[in-house]
Amino acid sequence: MTATRIDASKLAQKSEPFSFNEQQKNSLFAQLKKQRGILSQSDISSLCQQYEVSQLELQKACVPVASLFSVAPISKFYVGAVAVGLNKQGETNFYFGANVEFSHQALSLVVHAEQSAINNAWLNGAQAVQKIAISDAPCGYCRQFMNELSTADSLEILLPERDFNLHELLPHSFGPKDLGNEECLFSHKQRDKQFAETSINDEKLVQLALNAYVPYTGNFSAVRLSTYTEGDFYGSYAENAAYSPSLSPLQSALSQFYLAGLTFDDKTVKSITLLETQGAENQYEVAKSVLASFENPPAFEHCVAKLVND
Ligand SMILES: [Zn+2]
Repeated sequence: MTATRIDASKLAQKSEPFSFNEQQKNSLFAQLKKQRGILSQSDISSLCQQYEVSQLELQKACVPVASLFSVAPISKFYVGAVAVGLNKQGETNFYFGANVEFSHQALSLVVHAEQSAINNAWLNGAQAVQKIAISDAPCGYCRQFMNELSTADSLEILLPERDFNLHELLPHSFGPKDLGNEECLFSHKQRDKQFAETSINDEKLVQLALNAYVPYTGNFSAVRLSTYTEGDFYGSYAENAAYSPSLSPLQSALSQFYLAGLTFDDKTVKSITLLETQGAENQYEVAKSVLASFENPPAFEHCVAKLVND
């Protein structure tokens, strides 16, 4: 009788998933702020070694750390997500994400944690996202956002209680092909597009605009958020077949900014630059509106450039 009881307690102990204590969480959070929400393959290997866990156990344990990046003044619901992707060198990276809400703005402007993690992977060289671990079940909007990925058919969604694939959570789905679009987010399609002369002397901003995923409106656009002392942050436009879950270039740049653990205020943020495609502009009003939600919004520069080979 006693022996049985001991075995049962051992079993319970073994099934308890690995998690970081408060001190470990804070130390990883500090490292991630410096690395703008990304763990490289060597970071992942050394953490797996240090804590004697598998990569999968580490990914799941990182989710509560991702939630620490959340800015949720409205819901106070702090969501974290950690996407796994391979970079161009074939190395595994962890891309963190968290939800971002804007006070006094339409709720549709919110960036969801899953979007933030996938956007982080997309902007920072991941070739695809294979798995995403999330602190809570993804909302319908995020299921739709993930259905735009090149890996939608095989994407694994790891939740605290169990794992799913995307199609289990989004059966009979609507996607890019229903609109006759053969492209998808992360399809890395080679484009021959370029802008005619622009007044922008920031090659990165121009490249990010040209690499935007805009199969529905053709508005190749990107945003640069410049800070006084913490460098620049960039965002690119990622559209969605259901339109509403599209991530605007400003939302994309802001979620990158928050993954450095910074606060949006006039002491930190110097200026915002939005670059759009002439004839397809659709981001000016929404960008102005999001910026208006901040006290003392930064200088806002709006540039429009013409595509030469259109
Ligand atoms: Zn969501």
